[in-house]
Amino acid sequence: MTMIRTRFAPSPTGYLHIGGARTALYSWLHTRRHGGRFVLRIEDTDRERSTPEAVNAILEGMAWLGLDYDEGPFYQTERFERYRTHLQTLLDTGQAYYCYCTRERLERVRNEQLARKEKPRYDGRCRDLDGPPSDEVSSEPVVRFRTPLEGHVVVDDAIRSKVQFLNAELDDLIIARGDGSPTYNFTVVVDDLEMGITDVIRGDDHLNNTPRQIHLYEALGAQPPRFAHVPMILGEDGKRLSKRHGSVSVLQYREEGYLPEALLNYLVRLGWSHGDQEVFDVEELIQLFDINEVNHSASTFNPSKLLWLNQQHIMRSEAPHVARHLAPLLAERDVDPGAGPNLETIVRMQQERAKTLVEMADNSLFFYRRPHAYEEKAARKNFKEGTAEILEHCQHRLSGLPEWSAEAIHGVVTEAAETFEVGMGKVAQPIRVAVSGGAVSPPIDQTLELLGRDETVARVEAAVEWLRSQPTG
Ligand code: GLU
Repeated sequence: MTMIRTRFAPSPTGYLHIGGARTALYSWLHTRRHGGRFVLRIEDTDRERSTPEAVNAILEGMAWLGLDYDEGPFYQTERFERYRTHLQTLLDTGQAYYCYCTRERLERVRNEQLARKEKPRYDGRCRDLDGPPSDEVSSEPVVRFRTPLEGHVVVDDAIRSKVQFLNAELDDLIIARGDGSPTYNFTVVVDDLEMGITDVIRGDDHLNNTPRQIHLYEALGAQPPRFAHVPMILGEDGKRLSKRHGSVSVLQYREEGYLPEALLNYLVRLGWSHGDQEVFDVEELIQLFDINEVNHSASTFNPSKLLWLNQQHIMRSEAPHVARHLAPLLAERDVDPGAGPNLETIVRMQQERAKTLVEMADNSLFFYRRPHAYEEKAARKNFKEGTAEILEHCQHRLSGLPEWSAEAIHGVVTEAAETFEVGMGKVAQPIRVAVSGGAVSPPIDQTLELLGRDETVARVEAAVEWLRSQPTG
C-alpha cells in the first residue's frame, strides 16, 4: 500500500476555529495511525481576506494542540507558477477554454433561466468557439473547464459512502479569473496532486466541489485521492456553530484554561466513538481512530461536556504537564511562577478540584501574594466573635513549631479545636480565609506547609489585627 499523505488546508481569514481544528485532528489521527505524512497548506489566494495574523493564529493553534505536520506550511500564493503550468496543459489539450462572456451577458442569461424556472448555469456559448465571439466580448476572458455534458461522477466517500452527481448538473467551472488568477477548485486539485495527497479529509461544505475536482484530476491525467467529508458542528440551537454559541476559536480555549488534550478529546468525540468510552489520551486515539467510523450526521457542540472532559484531563495528567500549561496563566496574572512555592506541588494539591486551569490559577494566586482583601462572604461566615483569639493562639503555636510539616500543622489545628472546644472547621476555615483571602483551598495543613512558616504566621497575624480593628457589634 502506498504511504498515506493527508493535509490540512485552512484559508487564513480568521482564527483557527473548532470545526477546522476537528478536521485537522481527523486528518492528523488518520495519518499518524497509518504512519503517513501530514502536510499543512495555507490557502491564502484570497488576498483581501487573508491576513498574516490569521496565519499565525492557525500555526499557534496547531502547535498548542500538538498537531504537528511533516511538511509545510506551503503557501498557495507562492505557487502561482504551478497553477499556470497546469492551466496551460488544460488549454492545450482542449479540456479548458477561454470564455469571453461579459458580466452583463451572464447576468441576463441567468435571469432568463430563472424566469423559465430553470437552474441557472453557464449556457456554453464560448465552449465550442475557436476565438472570441462576435459581440458582447469581455477584454478579460476567464478560463472554464469543459465539463462532460453527460454521465455522472460518483464520490466514494469514507464517511458518506457513495454520492452520485450528474454531470449535467455541473457547470463549466471557472478555473481562472479574468486577471489570470486561479480559483479554489483548481488550486486545490493542483496542490493535492503535486503534494501527493492520498486522502482528502475536509468539511462536508466541500462535498459539492468534489465531483468537479474529480473531473479536474482526470483531465490532468491523475487518479483522484480518497475523500472523507466530515459533517458540520452545530450549536445547541441546531444552527451552524458560530460565535453566538460562545468560544469557537481554539486559542480562546487556551485562554479559558483548557488543556489541549481535553479539547482534542472533545473534538474527536464529536462524530466518532469507541464503545462508551469518553476519556481518551492522544496515544490511544492514534491507535483507535478510524476515519471510516465517523458519523455522517452533524453533531452538537456541548460546552458542559467539554468542561467535564477538561476536569477529567486535569485530574489524570502528570503534574509537570499541567504545570507547563498553568504557568502562562499565572504569568498573565502578574505572578512569576518561578518565584514562589514549587508549581508542580501546587498542581498536585489543586488537580482534584479545578475544572479549568484558569480556576486553578486564580485559586493559586495566594501562594504567590498576600490577599489584599478578604472575600466578603468568606469573612462574614468564618470571622466571628472569638475568631481573633483562636487565630492568635494558632499564630503562636505555629511560630513555635519545632518542625514545619503538614503533620505538625495538623496537630496545631486539632489542639486549638480542643482548647477552644470548637469543631476543626472553626479553626481551619478562619486560617484558610486568613492566608488565602477566600474559603476554598487545598487541605489546610498541606496549604500552610507549602506556603511556609513565615508567610503563614505573617498572614494569620494580619488577620488578627484586621479582626481587632473591626467595629464590634
Ligand atoms: N481552504 C478550504 C477551507 O478552508 C479547504 C479546502 C479543502 O480542504 O479542500 O475551507
